[in-house]
Amino acid sequence: MLGGTFDPVHIGHLRSAVELHEALTLDRVHLVPASKPPLRGEPQVTSQERLALLRLGIGDTPGLVADGRELERDGPSYSVDTLASLREEYGSQARLVMALGHDAFLRLTEWHSPGRLFELAHLVVIDRPDHKSPLSPALAELIAGREVDSPGVLMQRPAGGLLRLTLPTRLALSATAIRQRLAEGLSVRYLLPEAVERRINANSLYRDG
Ligand code: ATP
Repeated sequence: MLGGTFDPVHIGHLRSAVELHEALTLDRVHLVPASKPPLRGEPQVTSQERLALLRLGIGDTPGLVADGRELERDGPSYSVDTLASLREEYGSQARLVMALGHDAFLRLTEWHSPGRLFELAHLVVIDRPDHKSPLSPALAELIAGREVDSPGVLMQRPAGGLLRLTLPTRLALSATAIRQRLAEGLSVRYLLPEAVERRINANSLYRDG
């Protein structure tokens, strides 16, 4: 699972998902837009629209799935609930992985039931070029004893481990930068899939900063 706001989806998300699929030999990567992200302001466009953009962005990419399950729940979108629902779907022995960028990982102790995340899944932290800060003592304590150094070791168990991954293509790209460009009327060509750009333009999304 790769959760996020996807406001909007961009090639940093999509290329990371493809390379994660390859690096861990996953069956599939569920990209799950948050309906109401608990730790940030209201997204600029509706969750339905963000899911529609995500579907367009994924297109027919093998192994990637646009997963709208958080849109069906009321209240804040907690990853722990999403993982519980995936665990129920795939069964107790399936290897489940929650992937997140290093920036999101640094805030993990603020998440809802962070300890429980490890009961449900492994965490895989994807290195992001612009995000380098050190871990807080609370985060170091949360992950103590969980870190492994290869996908092979991680995948020996269904959940509970932590792996830091540097994927082959690291893109210094964020949705914030894309929203800023759109608000300023600047080009976003090649930063997101063409179909996503077309829908953003057709619906005049992200125009008012
Ligand atoms: P924003 O700029 O609005 O905060 P974002 O581009 O960081 O958005 P999110 O939707 O918050 O995108 O990200 C979803 C997940 O994808 C997070 O775990 C985030 O760390 C990760 N991610 C986002 N952009 C990249 C990137 N360029 N490379 C690797 N991971 C990324």
